[in-house]
Amino acid sequence: MRIGHGFDVHAFGEGDHVMLGGLRIAHGRGVIAHSDGDVVLHALCDALLGAASLGDIGQHFPPSDERWRGADSRQLLRHCVGLLRQRGWRLGNADITILAERPKVSPHATLMRERIACDCAVDIDAVSVKATTTEKLGFTGREEGIAAHAVVLIVAIERT
Ligand code: MG
Repeated sequence: MRIGHGFDVHAFGEGDHVMLGGLRIAHGRGVIAHSDGDVVLHALCDALLGAASLGDIGQHFPPSDERWRGADSRQLLRHCVGLLRQRGWRLGNADITILAERPKVSPHATLMRERIACDCAVDIDAVSVKATTTEKLGFTGREEGIAAHAVVLIVAIERT
């Protein structure tokens, strides 16, 4: 069993939605990003890669690589899960915290958990998604951007 942590931030820019946890959520701003800018899935990818000592998301999906322009971050997540699987690891559980004043996350949390659990091939109970504001403090409090933390345990795949 090993632990990993991931953190990601994207600045708000023009747009009418944000991608969070694999969901498209209507919002008055978009995010500035090379991929779809899903901070939840990027933090989770980094946590998984970190737990397995496989580097970070920037190494695996460099912004210079045109393959990942506008990429669906669920694709990146499934790629990371596959890398871990090749090395004998699977997700044990994940706990994700989104930092944002808006959009409101709680109405969408269950669907995010379902999508993440599906991409990681685990039960929904193994995936927690929660959110907090930062009491109007800092860049998230000023609604300049959105951030997410992810902590994961990975466990060895049982060979039968
Ligand atoms: Mg990112």
